[in-house]
Amino acid sequence: MAANSSIEWTEATWNPVTGCTKISPGCKNCYAEKMAKRLKAMGQRNYKNGFKLTLQPHMLEVPLRWKKPQTIFVNSMSDLFHKDVPLEYIQEVFYVMKRAHWHRFQVLTKRADRLEEIAPFLAWPPNIWMGVSVESQDHVSRIDHLRRTDAQTKFLSLEPLLGSLENLDLSGIDWAIVGGESGFKARPMPADWVNGIKDQWVDAGMAFFFKQWGGVQKKRNGRELEGRTWDEMPALAN
Ligand code: SF4
Repeated sequence: MAANSSIEWTEATWNPVTGCTKISPGCKNCYAEKMAKRLKAMGQRNYKNGFKLTLQPHMLEVPLRWKKPQTIFVNSMSDLFHKDVPLEYIQEVFYVMKRAHWHRFQVLTKRADRLEEIAPFLAWPPNIWMGVSVESQDHVSRIDHLRRTDAQTKFLSLEPLLGSLENLDLSGIDWAIVGGESGFKARPMPADWVNGIKDQWVDAGMAFFFKQWGGVQKKRNGRELEGRTWDEMPALAN
């Protein structure tokens, strides 16, 4: 399945892998888990295993068939660097992204240690943006793993933000997305956490994207910060 996306910072999603396992507090209310169960109940073929990690090789070449250039979030329903995704399969995903050079691919992981470990065995053309998720200070080491890869555009997804992030080392990082958790069990995100990060980014002259306040009433809470929206993107390398 490939689809236009309602995620504010991308245009489409592509899932050559589905399913995952939880690895840190940011995973607690995983949206992909809820969606996978719903899609299984609806009888969607790619989700017959629900949220169990499943390779979807028939999905590998889908972006090559999309002729219109798009920004594509890779594996919105999984984590490409999960330990059960073989290196050879990850290499195939990267090979498709390289061949589909007219698109821009956004790959995001919480398995930053495995990312760094296998990054030397992957090709890093400019149309692949690589990001790590960091929900709190306990996980900032993921940024160091990302920094040590050869990805040409590097970004952070600070979502769901679960704590303040002080004195981040921004060297080598191009972009940050910040967002609060949404849904009935959403954990709160005080404004000073968001402002603290935004100030670090703006002071450094870097691209900042504020996705949402989140909460139970996500739409009502909106996505304005200090009276405006923040939709900045990194300088385009491709
Ligand atoms: S890593 Fe992402 S997809 Fe996997 S369980 Fe955590 S939040 Fe869900």
